[in-house]
Amino acid sequence: MRILVLSDIHSNAIALEAVLDAVRDWDTVWCLGDTIGYGPNPNECIDRLRELPHMAIPGNHDWGVLGKAALEKFNLDARRANLWNREQLTPENRDYLEALPLTRSDGEFTLAHGSPRDPIWEYLLYGDTACKAMGALTTRLALVGHTHIPVVFVERGEDHGCGMGRPPVGEPFALPEARCIINPGSVGQPRDGDPRASCMVIDTKEIILEHRRIAYDVEETQARMRAVELPHRLSARLELGW
Ligand code: ZN
Repeated sequence: MRILVLSDIHSNAIALEAVLDAVRDWDTVWCLGDTIGYGPNPNECIDRLRELPHMAIPGNHDWGVLGKAALEKFNLDARRANLWNREQLTPENRDYLEALPLTRSDGEFTLAHGSPRDPIWEYLLYGDTACKAMGALTTRLALVGHTHIPVVFVERGEDHGCGMGRPPVGEPFALPEARCIINPGSVGQPRDGDPRASCMVIDTKEIILEHRRIAYDVEETQARMRAVELPHRLSARLELGW
């Protein structure tokens, strides 16, 4: 089975559509949360996802919109955008988000937005936290989002520490047989200095992944954000990829 792994779409329908246009070699989609928040098209993004064969989990921004995460935990711009996203959401799409389970597993993979031990909030940015989070894993592999930075953490056999590295773009990358935590990066608001939408395609039989980057019309997303008066800082960051 080939899985298109998406995360942190963040209401950026232009970026999502560009990914779906460019990446066709998959059987089903796994979406790691934060489908909404920040951007201008929450319903379009959820509607599009629901048209696809997929499974999904919620992120902190989805929970913010549902009133399940305290908005005080968001910075002011994120909070404003979250409240705007909340106002837009249709009852059907609200029910859809409400029904998503916190984590899911399939074969060797666990899906969690932040981390296996704290699925909504924990950020896995460094090897030491990834290592501790692996203690909560009941499968060998985990897929997470939340940081918007594509990375693979690999448990080392000798000292049970964690190595980390960025999988090359556009080249098949065979995962080692150790425990790994994989982040596909963000579709709608990349933060690794590359403004192109980020995603991965994973072959679950061969355990091979490919990191893909897809350019999209950032200016169009920014224009849509301006039109509904979302915070300027949130649209400006898209062209810089942070
Ligand atoms: Zn996010």
